[in-house]
This record gives sequence, C-alpha cells and structure tokens, in this order.
Amino acid sequence: MSILPVIADRPFKTRLYELDAAGLADWCVAHGFPAYRAGQIRRWIFGRRVSDFAEMHDVPATLRAALADEFSLFPARQAQHQVSRDGTEKLLLELHDGQFIECVLMREPDRRTICISTQVGCAMGCVFCASGLLGLKRSLTTGEILEQVLRLDRLLKKGEQITNLVVMGIGEPLANLKSLIPALDTLNEKGGLGLGARRITISTVGLPEKIRELARSGKQYNLAVSLHAPDNELRTRLVPVNDKIGIDAVLQAADDYFEITGRRVTYEYVLLSGVNDDPLHARQLAKRLQSRIAHVNLIPMNGVTELEFVAPTAPRTGEFVQVLESFGIPATVRKRKGADIDAACGQLRLAREKLAEQGNQASTCSSSD
Ligand code: SAH
Repeated sequence: MSILPVIADRPFKTRLYELDAAGLADWCVAHGFPAYRAGQIRRWIFGRRVSDFAEMHDVPATLRAALADEFSLFPARQAQHQVSRDGTEKLLLELHDGQFIECVLMREPDRRTICISTQVGCAMGCVFCASGLLGLKRSLTTGEILEQVLRLDRLLKKGEQITNLVVMGIGEPLANLKSLIPALDTLNEKGGLGLGARRITISTVGLPEKIRELARSGKQYNLAVSLHAPDNELRTRLVPVNDKIGIDAVLQAADDYFEITGRRVTYEYVLLSGVNDDPLHARQLAKRLQSRIAHVNLIPMNGVTELEFVAPTAPRTGEFVQVLESFGIPATVRKRKGADIDAACGQLRLAREKLAEQGNQASTCSSSD
C-alpha cells in the first residue's frame, strides 16, 4: 500500500516521517501497538540519529519488522558529498524519480547552520540564480524536506548539534508551505531536534498572501524577503515575478508579518556589480526601509558559470553598507561559506542536470544515426 508508483526506475517505500506524530500513533494503533510507541520511534530518528529500524533497541522486534516492511528511513541516493576547507559540507541527493536536490551544513565556532531545499528547481526565474535556470520540476514532500535535515544531522559529530536552519536552498519555500510547515513542526518537537521557530529563517521572493499565511501559522519564524532592488523597474528585471506583485505589496506583507509575529524582517539584497550596487540604489533602498524595523543582508553575487553577473569589489560593497547605515538601517554582508565547493544553491544540481542532458543528447544522436 505504501509503495509509491515508480515514476522513473526506482520504487521506494514511504519515508516513515512522511507521517506526523499523530499519524504514526494512528498507524501503531491500527497495527496493534500502543500509540506511545510513535513517540519512541520518532525520538530514535530525530533525537538519536539511527539509520536503521534495527537500531531502535527498545522498540519490540515485531513492531520494528512491521515498520521496515512498510516504511523506509533514507530512500534518497547520496549522489555527491562535498567537504570544504572551511568545514562546510554539501550533499547532492537523487530522489526516487531521478530528480536532484541540494542541502548544506555550515560550521561556525558557535553555530551549526543547515540550508535546505523545498522544491526541485524554481518557477520564480530570478535572473542571477542557478536554481531557476531549468524551471520548476516539482515541489518536495514533507519527508523529502526532512530527509535533508536528517542526513545533514548525521554528518555532525557526537556533541555537535544543528543550531540554526535556513530555508534558502533550491525553490521558493512559500510556494510549498503545505509540505514545509509540517516538516518544521516535526523539527520543533521535544525529544527530537528541538529546533525552535526563532532559529529558523525562511527566505522568500516575496509572495504577499503566503507571507500572511505564514504569519498566521502562529510560529515566530524569521522571515527574509529577497528585495534585490529599490524600485519596481529594476526589481522586475532581476526578479520577474515582481511584475505581478510590486514592491509596495511585498513591503506591506512584510510589515504585516512583523505586526503579527513581532519578528524583525530581514531584507536580502544580492549585490550585482554595475546593476544594483550604486550608492544611489543604497539611498533609495534606505528611504524605502527607513520607517521600518528592518535589517538588510547584502549578498555579494555568488558566481554561476552560466551567468555573467559578478559581485562588486569590497570597497564598493563597503560603501553600500555605509550609505544604509547613515540612514540608520542595520546592514550586514553575508559571509561566503564553502567557496571551494559549489555551495551556492542550485549549482551542483545544475551541473548534474547538464551532464544528464549531454548524455541524453549523445544517446539521441547515436540512436538517430
Ligand atoms: N526562493 C527564495 C530562496 C532563494 S535562495 C528567495 O527568493 O528568497 C536565498 C537567497 O539567495 C535569495 O535572496 C536569493 O535571491 C539569493 N541568491 C540566489 N542566487 C544567488 C547568487 N547566485 N548569488 C547571490 N545570491 C543569490
């Protein structure tokens, strides 16, 4: 019953944690086991880093066998594992239908931050981003989102633990709230990762209705809004969905988010040399944000082979920061992690898709010869 249809060539069993706590409790009861076993099983997976049902020592063997019969724990295939000199690690995972996703673990002295994907590809089409170059393939399920977290968690040493989570990998998270919210709820559970909403940041291109929906979830997630330009003309050039939305509507929704959750909103601004990095842009941005309790996170363009955009020089970046600060807007420049591996979101997947495409073309050629 739980074997999903084969979309490509790999059948797989449903991830156990595709079910939430209540769903697993119901499953236990329906199979003749007490409901409390669900909590026990989830603690093994989320709190104690097991990789196999057999390791769940205090779960009866009959229940372990029933679970193994119906569910899987890590069905994705690890296609690549990169380790950077700075301790950043990146995984490229292949899903059952042949699609690839990426997730990253970043180490800082006092933090272990993970970055996860919510979709395969992206429909937003931001012109400087690798993730959207091939469009959107599909959204991820709750289990597929959680498998990334669990795999990254298992890269940590004993005593290390995930302290922060950023939803800034491939995809537009607010276009997949249906899968994302249950995943975050699971991470929040006691006895599991215990990751509180205040340590989770969700980055969005700025979908106003979805921002309000997130605010109404009742959780205090940090919201990061990808603004990238101070006016509509430029923003629409860089972030095409802006054409239908407009900056005012994005800012209004962000204000509502702050009002409802009490969380200061971060505005992300990718710095593209010669495009949006002029001190004049900084002044216009500052004027837009001046009346708000906001924070600007500047992200120097992370090079993408297929794209021509480049980051401004350090002095030019510094000037942008100074202008914002002269208007009283706190601004930080994002540190680059994993520079020696393809750690910018979507780059590994893109390289892999390109390889596959070349392979397909080659085989098409040979078959038509
Ligand atoms: N869809 C979400 C998450 C995107 S990734 C969003 O739009 O916010 C997180 C941030 O990285 C976004 O602000 C995104 O615009 C930015 N980004 C994407 N590609 C980048 C690149 N090549 N260099 C620097 N920042 C980039």
